[in-house]
Amino acid sequence: MIGFNKPYLTGKETEYIKEAVMSGKISGDGIFTKKCHQFFEQKYGFRKALLTTSCTDALEMAAILLDIKEGDEIIVPSYTFVSTVNAFMLRGAKIVFVDSGKDNPNIDVELIEKLITPNTKAIVPVHYAGIACNMDKIMALANKYHLFVVEDAAQAIDSFYKGKPLGSIGHLAAFSFHETKNIISGEGGMLVINDERFVERAEIIREKGTNRSAFFRGEIDKYGWVDIGSSFLPSDIIAAFLYAQIENLDDIQNKRKHIWNTYYNSLRHLEETGRIKLPSIPDYATNNAHMFYIICSNVHERSDLIKYLKENDINVVFHYLSLHKSPFYIDKHDGREMPVSDELTDCLVRLPFYYELTQEQQKIIIRKIKEYYYDKN
Ligand SMILES: *Cc1c(COP(=O)(O)O)cnc(C)c1O
Repeated sequence: MIGFNKPYLTGKETEYIKEAVMSGKISGDGIFTKKCHQFFEQKYGFRKALLTTSCTDALEMAAILLDIKEGDEIIVPSYTFVSTVNAFMLRGAKIVFVDSGKDNPNIDVELIEKLITPNTKAIVPVHYAGIACNMDKIMALANKYHLFVVEDAAQAIDSFYKGKPLGSIGHLAAFSFHETKNIISGEGGMLVINDERFVERAEIIREKGTNRSAFFRGEIDKYGWVDIGSSFLPSDIIAAFLYAQIENLDDIQNKRKHIWNTYYNSLRHLEETGRIKLPSIPDYATNNAHMFYIICSNVHERSDLIKYLKENDINVVFHYLSLHKSPFYIDKHDGREMPVSDELTDCLVRLPFYYELTQEQQKIIIRKIKEYYYDKN
């Protein structure tokens, strides 16, 4: 069976974990956490990077930092993972969903402005498959209406918008190192703070509402409870794993881009002949090869394709279900239709994608997809 995902170990993970354990300090903000913070801040120019236990936690920190409360409105795409939205609902926000654009699954920026009200507090764009949203338009709206922007950059490590790293553009950004992402630590995430005003408080919220971080840096004599917060920081064992991954970031990215290009070039003819749609990458965006998906003509064809590939020992999977139609939200939604998000819900399928996918395996996957479309239809 060719699986959909396989976590890749670069080789140094257990060595660094052992080092972290032997250092005698395995709680948060140890040696490896600091190394990871430094790496991300230097490489991508983030004002401040803070590892968290997940991207979900980073988004929850963002919602606390923005003081989201009952009645505040948050503008988000419907085609996303639940955490993008949950983080804000936990604080009582009203969610205003937006459809995806015509070109790719990202939020349709043309629809945002008329959804802004005096209660709107933030826009949370998701860089789907690591492909940038149209950030100039989003930031212009944010400036015009005094809104915050939180980038859900869970899938977007090492990807760029007009040369700017994703995660460096919004006031805040959240990354994921879940085992399905490009670089991983099992579970893991990172909050990025680009707006100076949030830096100090972010450290406090991450440390259970205490100013312990400042205390450990020797900036204050004793630490205490100064704000709300929770325990959002990961053990240094997790950071040790992650550090082994980031040391190999370039290698991982090169390999993934090669796999992505092979899929794209091999399946192009199916798109040119109108059988499927392939991802399209706007001129302003780079491709970080997080994911390779194809879009089928309808839900029946997709189920049929998934079944056909499964019979041939290939595991492909669909992705999000429009959140405005989820069992939890359907009664709360204002009734606006989101046809593109619904189409993606029905028709998008993700192909096996991981570092150790061999050329032979990829050839088989491509051959079987072509067989399905050329022979069966
Ligand atoms: C993976 C993902 C998340 C959640 O990440 P965790 O680290 O598992 O919490 C959130 N948003 C998007 C868009 C994701 O792809």
